[in-house]
Amino acid sequence: ANPRLAEFGTTIFAEMSALALEHDAINLGQGFPDTDGPQEVLDAAVSAIHGGRNQYPPGPGVPELLDAVAAHQERFYGIRLDPRTEVLVTAGATEAIAATVLALCEPGDEVVTFEPYYDSYAATIALAGAVRRTSVLRFPDFAVDEASLRAAFSDRTRLVLLNTPHNPTGKVFTREEVELVCALAREHDAWVVTDEVYEHLVFDGLTHVAAATLPGMRERTLTISSGGKTFSTTGWKVGWVSGPGEAIAGVRAVKQFLTYVASGPFQPAIARGLGLGDARYAAFSRSLQDKRDLLVAGLRSAGLQVCVPSGTYFVVADAAPLGASDALTFCRELPKRAGVVAVPVSVFHDDKDAARTLVRFAFCKKDEVLREAVSRLASLT
Ligand code: PMP
Ligand code: GLN
Repeated sequence: ANPRLAEFGTTIFAEMSALALEHDAINLGQGFPDTDGPQEVLDAAVSAIHGGRNQYPPGPGVPELLDAVAAHQERFYGIRLDPRTEVLVTAGATEAIAATVLALCEPGDEVVTFEPYYDSYAATIALAGAVRRTSVLRFPDFAVDEASLRAAFSDRTRLVLLNTPHNPTGKVFTREEVELVCALAREHDAWVVTDEVYEHLVFDGLTHVAAATLPGMRERTLTISSGGKTFSTTGWKVGWVSGPGEAIAGVRAVKQFLTYVASGPFQPAIARGLGLGDARYAAFSRSLQDKRDLLVAGLRSAGLQVCVPSGTYFVVADAAPLGASDALTFCRELPKRAGVVAVPVSVFHDDKDAARTLVRFAFCKKDEVLREAVSRLASLT
């Protein structure tokens, strides 16, 4: 195996979803919904398949999706993009992240990110031969610690990888926090790469702040998102990255040798989704907010301390009251003990002690499934 990947084993999602199948457990581990998204989006994929769009699409993406991403960025953020040079379609956000980091980083360059971080970040940074420098977000409020963030920057910082709304914490970075990240990036002449896959899953009337909208940031920000979360189509793997044309050309150069292209018939379908009206976006985040409330109340009544998430699919809780002393061991045993699958937050950390007994639960599930999971967890106390 590539020695750069030596520290990374099987991803936690594969391990935990396999345990869910083995024990026929409720899977609140890997984040994917158990209901389908908008009918128009599903129908558009079926029409694309029956309409013969089953061969390689153009390398940068199908024109209607490039146009739809540009229109979406203007409609929600006021960012105007040239869809032919400033947008690139990728095989999910995962490929956008990998191609962007590989395009921008030389071996030895440093990448600043927050921990806990989405697991592909660390592996991708390592594959690029770059070095990750992290700042810890601490339970229960996961606030940004300015001193540690500043300390993570150096004259070798090439880029900051910012994820908001944030997986696994459910944190939506405040405007001040995004401004601080951007100010430090400007100070160190670094790129900001933002992973905004949960951009539309924001609760309580809060606003997602896109780094590219801040003053002076458009020219140093690459914005990544995907259709999986917004349209409940995580298996389709349609993502994109947008930003200054020269940088997008660099990302495209890497992407063409990773996958060349992806998801022919799903691209026009996601374009259809991006064009749905504001009310549809709002209704979906409202329904997820209700699910968050259901799971948070259930975890609390089972005696857990919870960080109420402002966005995403996820809630982090301290499982110590359920007998957890090490969340990884606890989560490996939980499917058998209680018929529930969850994910230990420590796998997303370099500093494992920051998350010793913290567990991530996904709430993008049917209400009755969430209720059943909570009652199984409560039986452990
Ligand atoms: N970034 C974050 C923060 C995620 O949670 C995920 C997982 N869904 C991804 C990226 C990957 O997205 P995709 O499935 O579009 O590759
Ligand atoms: N993003 C999803 C999660 O965090 C799933 C990711 C994956 O399976 N790689 O659960």
